[in-house]
Amino acid sequence: MTSSTATRAKTPITVAYGDGIGPEIMTATLSILDAAGAQIAPEVIEIGERVYLSGNSAGIAASAWESLRRTKVFLKAPITTPSGGGYKSLNVTVRKTLGLYANVRPCVSYAPFVETLHPKINLVIVRENEEDLYAGIEHRQTDDVYQCLKLISRPGCEKIVRYAFEYARRHGRKKVTCMTKDNIMKMSDGLFHKVFDEMAVDYPEIKTEHMIIDIGTARMADRPEQFDVVVTPNLYGDIISDVAAELTGSVGLAGSANIGEHVAMFEAIHGSAPDITGKGIANPSGLLHGAVMMLDHIGQHDVAARIHNAWLCALEEGAHTADIAAAGDASVLSTAEFAQAVIARLGRSPSRLNAISASPAQTSQSATEPAKRYQSPPKAQKDMVGVDVFFHWHSGAVEQLADTVTSVLGGTEFELQMITNRGVKVWPNGFPETFCTDHWRCRLMGTAVSRDQSKCTHESILGLLTKLRGTGLDFIKTENLYTFDGEPGFALGQGQ
Ligand code: NAD
Repeated sequence: MTSSTATRAKTPITVAYGDGIGPEIMTATLSILDAAGAQIAPEVIEIGERVYLSGNSAGIAASAWESLRRTKVFLKAPITTPSGGGYKSLNVTVRKTLGLYANVRPCVSYAPFVETLHPKINLVIVRENEEDLYAGIEHRQTDDVYQCLKLISRPGCEKIVRYAFEYARRHGRKKVTCMTKDNIMKMSDGLFHKVFDEMAVDYPEIKTEHMIIDIGTARMADRPEQFDVVVTPNLYGDIISDVAAELTGSVGLAGSANIGEHVAMFEAIHGSAPDITGKGIANPSGLLHGAVMMLDHIGQHDVAARIHNAWLCALEEGAHTADIAAAGDASVLSTAEFAQAVIARLGRSPSRLNAISASPAQTSQSATEPAKRYQSPPKAQKDMVGVDVFFHWHSGAVEQLADTVTSVLGGTEFELQMITNRGVKVWPNGFPETFCTDHWRCRLMGTAVSRDQSKCTHESILGLLTKLRGTGLDFIKTENLYTFDGEPGFALGQGQ
């Protein structure tokens, strides 16, 4: 124990041992933290499978939330989400409820001590953690069609992009790559890309680039050493961070931090590994890396560096659990033996792998950045200019639908502009080759008195819907169409 750690007050943290291999790797991790002199006071909560199966569909009890809100620091082992419907993912619930908007996952190669085709990987994925398709707003709308809403907000984009740039600046990283699919999702992913470009000007010393996620993922799989910091929306980040971690040699090695304005959660990236549970062979390194990030987060940089360097040293000297051992290696260690191997090397530094410094700016696996509060931009002038009405309809040719809708428009403030099916324009002038489901969208534009004065109102939409219902049509949802400062807030139909 160093003199600075001996005098430090203990920081309360919330600890969950989790399911499957969770208790084995948490015990190993806490034993290393204890031996290294981490000044922490763990409060243990129970979450996961047993809580789910006791009838709590969220997998977490009220008392656990109290602990998390009190300590604001969470070290969590993996949990098992029971299969079958009715159980919400606890990880997503915790991240979103506590506003843990940034998922930070460093991916580093440890060649030649861990086998990998890419010995020079040293990158950090900064994944947006709260929105996108993970909003979990899903509906079945017709016999044929199910919907999942993708929500991207300006505050969400600004928080994560700012976090990525601040992380890069603080850690002396040279480049931030933004990945989106804004060639297709021009509004939602387009906003993420736009915010990235807006914020880049505040960081002139950092090189920036944007890649479409498909080619970005391909490049990551082929030349991961070209990446430094990558910032990306939730779903792409989920996928690409597993790709990156796997390329380093084992998903059992990587930890991740989930950072919010108030609370932070630290974990391994892998799951509860039911196939090896109880065998005592799991690699505790992923959770240990999560714990090292936690120690940086609570300001115990010296302990974080001590543990990390001892771990690197152990790796160099051949201490391996089964998942990273070479074939035929007779000296494979159990989880507890591996923990002891790390403890035995506390105070030593690696000779070939890069040692970690106790300075927060140089602690390559630190995830901690000061969170900045979001400032709302001035409100735009918002005008309602029409409505998209979606129908469940499977009665015949699209002209019939157009005729039925048009038949009730006399005397209303709307005109039928187009009909689409799964986003592609099928009326007017559709192609017979286009495959159509039973899910149709009619775009009804307000007939403006003048450019600035639309007659389209909530009341006129209600009147329109009443008339449409009178024809027997089954409208399943509407989307109001707005302009913001004169700019359309809706996409064209494909082929429009
Ligand atoms: P998994 O990550 O648990 O296992 C995938 C493979 O990697 C298995 O072969 C496993 O033995 C191996 N593995 C994982 N961690 C290892 C370690 N530390 N040491 C050695 N080998 C390791 O993924 P899965 O099997 O798809 O999921 C199992 C359960 O975990 C599911 O219920 C899933 O919902 C849950 N899960 C939880 C989290 C989390 O809590 N953060 C994350 C992912 C999956």
